[in-house]
Amino acid sequence: MELKGKRVTVIGLGNSGVNAALLLSRHGAKVFVTDAGSSAELKKTKDLLAAKKINVEIGMHSEAFVKGSDLVVVSPGIEDSSQSIRWALEHKIKIISEMELGYRFCKGRIIAITGTNGKSTVAMLIGEILKANFGDTVVCGNMGNSLCGEVSKIRKDTWVVLEVSSAQLERIEKFKPYIAIILNVTDDHMDRYKNFYEYFNHKLKIFANQDERDLLILNYDAENLRRLKGLTGSSVLFYAKDRLIANGLDIAAYIRDEWICCIYGEGEKEIVHINDITLKGVHNLENVMVSSLVGMIAGVTARSIRDTVRKFTTLEHRFETVAVIDGVEYIDDSKSTTVDSTKRALESCDKPVILIAGGKDKHSDYSVVKNIVEDKVRRVVLIGEASGVIKKALIESSLVDEAVDMDEAVGLAGKYAASGWIVLLSPMCSSFDMYRDYKERGNKFKEAVKRLSRKIKASEGLKK
Ligand code: ADP
Repeated sequence: MELKGKRVTVIGLGNSGVNAALLLSRHGAKVFVTDAGSSAELKKTKDLLAAKKINVEIGMHSEAFVKGSDLVVVSPGIEDSSQSIRWALEHKIKIISEMELGYRFCKGRIIAITGTNGKSTVAMLIGEILKANFGDTVVCGNMGNSLCGEVSKIRKDTWVVLEVSSAQLERIEKFKPYIAIILNVTDDHMDRYKNFYEYFNHKLKIFANQDERDLLILNYDAENLRRLKGLTGSSVLFYAKDRLIANGLDIAAYIRDEWICCIYGEGEKEIVHINDITLKGVHNLENVMVSSLVGMIAGVTARSIRDTVRKFTTLEHRFETVAVIDGVEYIDDSKSTTVDSTKRALESCDKPVILIAGGKDKHSDYSVVKNIVEDKVRRVVLIGEASGVIKKALIESSLVDEAVDMDEAVGLAGKYAASGWIVLLSPMCSSFDMYRDYKERGNKFKEAVKRLSRKIKASEGLKK
């Protein structure tokens, strides 16, 4: 992509926008960045970029920043309804996503992972499997460090493990990963998309430019993905939990006799026994399956993959046990911002559960968890904006309480839970109504659990 002397506008000044602007500037473009926010952090970033002769406006979008540009690069957080995008469309300026820009300058072999849930876990695990064997591996994308920020480290032989969200796929043009993976596509972001199909179709763009030399790995257990085989020019491989369907040649990873197995190249290989997997939860078996398969494709030995999987512990705030107090296990699953991930978390609980849920509503269908709540959950404690809608959906399946904040929610949950039970924070919603992000929400949960533990210990001390 020739950028020398071109005028380029970047929309959004987060990690993606900043790194896109720096890359553009390094390649000789005249760069303009616009962001409607005006936080102290943005002001600092503005000064930083200004020192590199990049023009930045914050607190507003102005038409002058967009008009006359040769190209607009958009950050994933920016929706099509944004005024600056509308101006770009009006002036018929080409718009690409930050990821597309990064792709144009990326020399490495890309393994791109998308899905509603499990992207970060799978990207990190694949990253560890490849690093242990080849060293030269970059893990980046949606988890925070954007592709544009990493390209300068990437050489021809570098494995690039890229976590890709639907928003990043919205405005791709030539993006063509060597391996594309779709883990699952379930209800999410219904506040951003018109309907499920619009969201689903954006996810499918991950393989739009692939050809038969590229691989597309799909979860066979997800019915809506199984059907894609006839719709793509890519070479398709499936992974599936059940070995019975492994007679089909394309099932390349599955579970047989409690072993994760892969067939790629020379015959079946036992990779790891499920009891040796540190990650908890049924959904993580799927994550290990697909990650092992990618390891095999890259040429990593079964033994090396096994060693990495055994060492790999959960990422923070993803079905993470934070304490056991008086026989009650407290699990932080704050990253569960969809109905399906909470369903999967509940499926992975083999004890009665007190569920803490709620947050910012994404117009999800909460009735999806009704049956499992009826089966496993003794009481639901709700926080945040979505409390009312969730209560309406679950009131027939469980007793429901509402709490004003995390402290009260954890206090109530601790009161209801008996020894041998689980208190699970798995919100089904994003966190932005009460917290900066899911990390802050998870940390508040952890702090509240610590306080509760101290309180219980103190009252036990008094009784002695
Ligand atoms: P993402 O990056 O797609 O948000 P994460 O790995 O951060 O995915 O996990 C987000 C949530 O989804 C967590 O609650 C986690 O326990 C759950 N999860 C992880 N893997 C899967 C999967 N394969 N299917 C469903 N839920 C999953």
